[in-house]
Amino acid sequence: MQTTINSSKQAMELEDQYGAHNYHPLPVVLAKGEGVYVWDVEGKRYYDFLSAYSAVNQGHCNPRIVNALKEQAETLTLTSRAFYNDVLGAYEKYVTEYFHFDKVLPMNTGAEAVETAIKVCRKWAYEKRGVPENEAKIIVCQNNFHGRTTTVISFSNDEVARKNFGPYTPGFIKIPYDDIEALEKVLKEEKNVVGLLVEPIQGEAGVYTPANDFVRRAKEACHRHNALFIADEVQTGIARTGSLLAVCGDCSCENKCERQPTYTKPDILILGKALSGGVYPVSAVLADNEVMEVIQPGQHGSTFGGNPLGCKVAMAALDVVQDEKLMVNARKLGKLFRERMQELVEKSDLVKLVRGKGLLNAVVINDSEDSSTAWDLCVALKENGLLAKPTHGNIIRFAPPLVMTEEQLHECCDIIEKTINEFKK
Ligand SMILES: *Cc1c(COP(=O)(O)O)cnc(C)c1O
Repeated sequence: MQTTINSSKQAMELEDQYGAHNYHPLPVVLAKGEGVYVWDVEGKRYYDFLSAYSAVNQGHCNPRIVNALKEQAETLTLTSRAFYNDVLGAYEKYVTEYFHFDKVLPMNTGAEAVETAIKVCRKWAYEKRGVPENEAKIIVCQNNFHGRTTTVISFSNDEVARKNFGPYTPGFIKIPYDDIEALEKVLKEEKNVVGLLVEPIQGEAGVYTPANDFVRRAKEACHRHNALFIADEVQTGIARTGSLLAVCGDCSCENKCERQPTYTKPDILILGKALSGGVYPVSAVLADNEVMEVIQPGQHGSTFGGNPLGCKVAMAALDVVQDEKLMVNARKLGKLFRERMQELVEKSDLVKLVRGKGLLNAVVINDSEDSSTAWDLCVALKENGLLAKPTHGNIIRFAPPLVMTEEQLHECCDIIEKTINEFKK
């Protein structure tokens, strides 16, 4: 029998009793979303400053994406890849032209796409570079976040994510983030290093933005040693940081970024989250023929990957990004947000610093990492109508949907300012 939810309290009790306790949500139960807003069960409205970890860049229930979903849902949803379907090819053409790659491998979640990239990179190493079997090593960065599968947590250094999930997958070497020297050293001294898997900005770790030339120099170093540069843009991609991709760097273009001199094209690009505007799980791995051709029939796949519903949703989601010039808005509002927060940093001793790019930003709270201050502040923000979540103790990430207006952003900054000024530890 299905239960009707009448109150937030009831919904939280049900999750507590019947769901695995693998999350610790802020105590708010959402029942509706539209654009930059969400509403709880009791009808209170909030500004969403998490955007489902940057999956909802296009705004909640974006009508163009939802209509694409509805139309395709009534036509054909899933065929598996045992047969062709009449949407996948069109999507593959669309998405590869959009991001300027020869080929795409469609998956569903971000972690699956990361797994796919690792498999493609390893296979390339054995078949194209001639690395002895089982010897390939991939470099990753400390404090990375690439998802939750067994292999992916094997190279995490977050003890909460790792502990008691071993034995771990071998074949990864960890270096400090944003450290070109460390990268060069490993590439030079270790045998059979075949790739670097990296986030152009570390989102989960607390929005760590590396040096401006880090991505470019990292790719150059990889290429000097015949290793692939693999960018995980699951969180940073699709306009979030003020350009189509974070690897586009500082650009002022309105749409595609490839022709900008700052663009660093990855050998393998990993996308997810906003690829579907948060409407349906869609992820993708993009590469040129030279790399992607190592994958042959039967060697990798997914029942739902490349299904017509996901493909239609993704095309609509990417249309929205382009037509509404979301990267331009993210760039403009991001600057405004950091200016407003910088004023706060100077006035309040509760906030230590603000950092980020585009509309992927974080405010560091002036307290120890194990204090509850950031959490308590998020609860207070919630009371004042704005939803954000701490990441790693004393850091609060602020990442609203990219369809926000300047006026709304100022109202949100007012809420944050008021909450911080009134907050008592
Ligand atoms: C969220 C995220 C993932 C994992 O995506 P899921 O869809 O949750 O599996 C991987 N990499 C990065 C950088 C992410 O932010």
